[in-house]
Amino acid sequence: LPYSLRVPAKPRNPENNPGRPGELALIRRIRNRALSHSRTGITLGIGDDCALLKLRPGEEAAVTTDLSIAGRHFLLEVHPPEVVGYRTLARGLSDLAAMGARPVAAFVSLGLPRELTVPRGRQSAWVERFYDGLLALADACKTPLAGGDLAQSPVALADIVLVGAVPNGKALLRSGARLGHVIYLTGSLGGAAAGLGLLRGMRGLRIVGGFPAISKKMSDLASAHLHPQPRITQGLWLQRKSMATAAIDLSDGLSTDLNHLCQESGVAAEVDAASLPLHADATLEQALHGGEDYELLFTAAPTVRMPRHIGGVPVTRIGRIVRRRKGAALVTLQTDEGDAPLLPQGWQHFS
Ligand SMILES: [Mg+2]
Repeated sequence: LPYSLRVPAKPRNPENNPGRPGELALIRRIRNRALSHSRTGITLGIGDDCALLKLRPGEEAAVTTDLSIAGRHFLLEVHPPEVVGYRTLARGLSDLAAMGARPVAAFVSLGLPRELTVPRGRQSAWVERFYDGLLALADACKTPLAGGDLAQSPVALADIVLVGAVPNGKALLRSGARLGHVIYLTGSLGGAAAGLGLLRGMRGLRIVGGFPAISKKMSDLASAHLHPQPRITQGLWLQRKSMATAAIDLSDGLSTDLNHLCQESGVAAEVDAASLPLHADATLEQALHGGEDYELLFTAAPTVRMPRHIGGVPVTRIGRIVRRRKGAALVTLQTDEGDAPLLPQGWQHFS
């Protein structure tokens, strides 16, 4: 029987309900935790059939959904549950950032094998630790958890829905890049792929309650992979200043996401390899094709004076929008050895 987060405030004596007491108690705890966190922007949170969200006058809703599946988007034997929770929310927030939207509310539905919902010994259950990570980022980004669902599933999976708000007609789209526009990037590239490599190579991961736990060493080494920073501030700034003509977040890798942007805008792009801001641990290959950096890739008119930092994050000019030519690649990488097509080879998760 699927169970929902919509439990009555005072459940009818769940301990008398054979087979489900632990589940109901779990749901009640999740609900209480969500309610004790930030609630601005929601009129009604968990507890009724629907959440009620409040948009400001003149705003439209931006909605995004992302599915994370064990074995494909995360690995139970490598990723601590807190990290899976954090990254699940980060994916959704990054999509809002790419549209220049402010987060309003998050909804997360989980399908979990039973062993992930029960504590092992004195340690918290996997699912509780998942919410530790998710709610930490939700708090940092002032995004209330306004609902969700929980069901038993043979494979662990998490589906996140993010609702954001953006002034009517002001959302940053993928389709606005034009000939002569300049291509910019926030932060650095390849850190997430490099971090994942380090993590997978680590021997003797610390295990707590049957699952990996974040050690200080692990956290420092692989922070770009474990705790990517959704560029909400930067997306909002670009939207409010009307500085960007098009934007996309780097979830699948520069090669894939820049191709998406060119496709939607009906243009082509040239990237200067030497200008790419590589993460200290990353190879050029990881910077070009490694996914999940969750930086913003955006374009602006050549007349715009782009600052070197937005909200404390560096902004780097990496190339330009050019005319699309028949038979030529949409994206060209320019190096000392000449030009080469940059084909989409984005990270294929763990497939
Ligand atoms: Mg996206």
